[in-house]
Amino acid sequence: MTFHPDRFFSDALTRLREEGNYRRFADLERRCGQFPRALERCEGTSRDVTVWCSNDYLGMGQHPDVLYAMHRAVDEVGAGAGGTRNISGTTRAHVELEAELAGLHDKEAALLFTSGYVSNWATLGTLGARIPGLVILSDALNHASMIEGIRHSGARKVIWRHNDLADLEAHLAALPAETPKLIAFESVYSMDGDIAPIAEICDLADRYGAMTYLDEVHAVGLYGPRGGGVAEERGLMDRLTVIEGTLGKAFGVMGGYIAASAALVDFIRSFASGFIFTTALPPAVASGALASVRHLKMSQSERAAQKARVSQVRAGLDRLGIPHLDNPSHIIPVMVGDPVKCRYLSDVLMSRHGIYIQPINYPTVPKGTERLRITPSPVHSGTDVAKLLAALGELWSQCQLARVPQAAE
Ligand SMILES: *Cc1c(COP(=O)(O)O)cnc(C)c1O
Repeated sequence: MTFHPDRFFSDALTRLREEGNYRRFADLERRCGQFPRALERCEGTSRDVTVWCSNDYLGMGQHPDVLYAMHRAVDEVGAGAGGTRNISGTTRAHVELEAELAGLHDKEAALLFTSGYVSNWATLGTLGARIPGLVILSDALNHASMIEGIRHSGARKVIWRHNDLADLEAHLAALPAETPKLIAFESVYSMDGDIAPIAEICDLADRYGAMTYLDEVHAVGLYGPRGGGVAEERGLMDRLTVIEGTLGKAFGVMGGYIAASAALVDFIRSFASGFIFTTALPPAVASGALASVRHLKMSQSERAAQKARVSQVRAGLDRLGIPHLDNPSHIIPVMVGDPVKCRYLSDVLMSRHGIYIQPINYPTVPKGTERLRITPSPVHSGTDVAKLLAALGELWSQCQLARVPQAAE
């Protein structure tokens, strides 16, 4: 039998559709200055929608300081960096941004990458490949970029149960004392919104002589008095070997980074293929990110307003008995538990209510835990919240989805 590539591809996609896991992208035109409002285009028509699932958590993607910095950079230095960091692509903006990020995390140095994904993939990949005998202890719910980096490194990997200190300790204790070890985990987990016991993990790292690698992608800009993340909020930044973050979520722009000791950063700069052999971020992107980091270092108003909106949405869901994961973060996962229903809810929210919440299905989350992941932000108004809650309440009845019994007072 001859192999028919396109038949192979379309059969695989048909199976994905049948499972309800086929991904459709919403075609959005964000309205600068009006976000979370956007124009959604679908099959030749368009409509106004309110976005409730963005990772531009604080609306920094339209902040005047960020836009001004980017416009000015384009006018002054042009569009692209024009090279890898090594060959003509390092500009003033890159150097200043790296210094700013090192300062944000109280580390000696920082290193920029083209995305958070690449920063995880390249850093873990390089540490795992270059440190002889390194064992990487990886939390079971780590992001795909960490998993791929570890896999690519070829290092021995040990997966410990999510946020489970006893399991982590058992694995650490089973390794010889002289074996180099690295514990890789996240602070805020993106899909459940729960937060790791960072201090206790650092205690174990000290006891067993392990390095620590913390992904703070969903926390930088949002937690800590200067937006340095959960480790800053809890006074733990100096206990972590590597802190990794993104400039594409709360900072509203694009790019990723690590912050660590000068020696570790220089090592990654010198050996990581995913850092070396790729064009540097456009200077305007670095300038915009720099303006965003600087703004959120000083300003508390965005973080405070976000917290208030998050509480308001949670309280409303509780009143309606709509099940959502109870967690200490800004991420509100409304649990549906079925991929087809999850997709249907999302479609009806969009078509009937002008509310955009992307359904989160397998493989992003385990089967049976399909959900709508809601991310309230300071740019959502009280009216937006009321509309969201009314729409969800109506749909919950219409789809006969289970409600949580009201807790007795
Ligand atoms: C989004 C995400 C990343 C990747 O960051 P990007 O800048 O979007 O590439 C890394 N880690 C986690 C936990 C994420 O959710």
